[in-house]
Amino acid sequence: MPGGFAPVANAGPCPCGGGAYASCCGPLHRGERSAETAEQLMRSRYAAFARGEIDYLLATHHEPERSESERRRSLEFTCRRSRWLGLKIIATERGGPEDLEGIVRFEARHGDGVLTETSLFQRLDGDWLYIRAQELDNAVGTIK
Ligand SMILES: [Zn+2]
Repeated sequence: MPGGFAPVANAGPCPCGGGAYASCCGPLHRGERSAETAEQLMRSRYAAFARGEIDYLLATHHEPERSESERRRSLEFTCRRSRWLGLKIIATERGGPEDLEGIVRFEARHGDGVLTETSLFQRLDGDWLYIRAQELDNAVGTIK
């Protein structure tokens, strides 16, 4: 498929690899359920990238320094140009139901290669949010 979103039927498997979309990340995208762990949020954000769920990506990324229209534009660009092929969680640290902060290291395969990132998540007002990618040379386990 030349660019564009990979259309994923709601009845099909979840892009994150966690089972059926309807019972995996679908309820999170539809706002029926909140992520209980940082890993769940990470998986649901990956699935949102794969499906072009821009509103969910905006809602789950704490990025107060950029305007919503700017963020939406860059997300639309990223979703259009990337074809996401699979997710592998490599390591998680904290990020459980009782934690306020967590990190998830993952590999996301896409049409042009593999993205490896260590992401920082925080629970703000009860909900897990993606904060930012950690510096690449930060070892897993160092939360600043
Ligand atoms: Zn999923």
